[in-house]
Amino acid sequence: MKITIIGTGYVGLVSGACFADVGNTVLCLDVNDEKIAMLKNGVIPIHEPGLDTMVERNAAAGRLLFSTSYDEAMAHAECVFLAVGTPPDEDGSADLTHILAAARSIGQRIETPVVVVDKSTVPVGTADKVRAAIQGELDKRGSTVAFSVVSNPEFLKEGAAIDDFMRPDRIVVGSDDASATRLMRQLYAPFSRNHEKLVEMDVRSAELTKYAANAMLATRISFMNELANLAEVLGADIEAVRHGMGLDPRIGSQFLYAGMGYGGSCFPKDVKALVKTGADHEQTLHILEATERVNDNQKNVLFKKLSRFYGGVEHLNGKTVALWGLSFKPNTDDMREAPSLILLKELFAAGCRVRAYDPVASSEALRVLERDHGAARVEEMLTIASSATAAVDNADVLVLVTEWKEFRAPDFRHLAQTLRGKAIFDGRNIYDPAEVAEAGLAYEGIGRVSRK
Ligand code: NAD
Repeated sequence: MKITIIGTGYVGLVSGACFADVGNTVLCLDVNDEKIAMLKNGVIPIHEPGLDTMVERNAAAGRLLFSTSYDEAMAHAECVFLAVGTPPDEDGSADLTHILAAARSIGQRIETPVVVVDKSTVPVGTADKVRAAIQGELDKRGSTVAFSVVSNPEFLKEGAAIDDFMRPDRIVVGSDDASATRLMRQLYAPFSRNHEKLVEMDVRSAELTKYAANAMLATRISFMNELANLAEVLGADIEAVRHGMGLDPRIGSQFLYAGMGYGGSCFPKDVKALVKTGADHEQTLHILEATERVNDNQKNVLFKKLSRFYGGVEHLNGKTVALWGLSFKPNTDDMREAPSLILLKELFAAGCRVRAYDPVASSEALRVLERDHGAARVEEMLTIASSATAAVDNADVLVLVTEWKEFRAPDFRHLAQTLRGKAIFDGRNIYDPAEVAEAGLAYEGIGRVSRK
């Protein structure tokens, strides 16, 4: 099949590469010239395990094309995916500017029937708006080309995106048009041979399913973070509690980890957008409002522990803090809404110098931090270290922010010799407090009894 994907970001590029890998001819379109130029030169603009070889293989086979030209992209397509960003607007709602701009661009150009597929995360009712935007452009030029709009939200996880796309848990298709549904079945057959993973429903339910799933996951995280803070004052260990809870199959053990709060490009904006959708329809979403509040609070927890350790914020001035991990989770360079950004802001304000190391996200982090704080301030307060070991050199304490594999088994005795303040702040509960204490280091986790 000939497929056009509009928006060549985390979702668009992964979807495009995976559709090409099973034999389709895919054209990935983006308005960002720089991104498309990089891709044409074989450079992958994002870090996603396995993506580089997949893009290279399919581009070499002529099945994966890149363009900035809507004319070219629309002439190519039997099926057009919308995978552009839907960032939060000032009032929390999803900003549909990019989606509707792309829809108008489609309407201005199609000459033969197409199926338009909403893959971006969009509020209920967006398919109707996309349909109206395309129809509006067709009317302007007196065209009667047939098209349908289908909702097919994406559930891939950054860091495991290829595997998620190639072996999905489920493929949600919301469609009111039988022939468009048939096309979607055909398109997804290679990823679900007997269509057993294809979940067909109406368009509005499909749109809501994506928000419901992300809202549930975000709520689990906030629930555990709230319990972690309680466990701590009660002298219990949230890690033991998590294990004991998670073995109940009704609860399950996944997504039950206390930490520094959820971040990334999806949960924060999707929870906000769903709360706003509720408010727009006089349905207060109490649980989700609390989920957000708990999350905002959680992003400050580690900084508070650090201040307490030194006997007050004023004593942090001049301290050097080693930071392991910057990205919002391991295996990605995505810095959108990363909890590290909040922590860094607090550390800078308290007068701390930071020595940070991240296996892949350092340059993206620098770009975001320089945008937010100015290059001079970032240069003054932050050093990007070349390794985990280099980050702790001359540091007072270590803060573990992102649980990259390479941080899992450090040499605690070496850390005890190196860190002047002799303390580790474990924002992801990946270390054994007893082992850390035995090496002569103080330990602070999330929802655990601290060790001095
Ligand atoms: P992204 O920011 O990485 O990529 C979006 C791309 O769209 C950018 O490259 C941008 O230049 C391009 N774009 C914007 N307007 C355009 C236009 N009019 N025409 C062509 N290109 C245009 O975003 P993403 O992370 O890939 O997310 C895309 C959508 O998928 C969002 O709605 C997001 O919520 C959803 N989603 C994301 C993930 C994830 O893990 N990142 C997972 C599931 C769903």
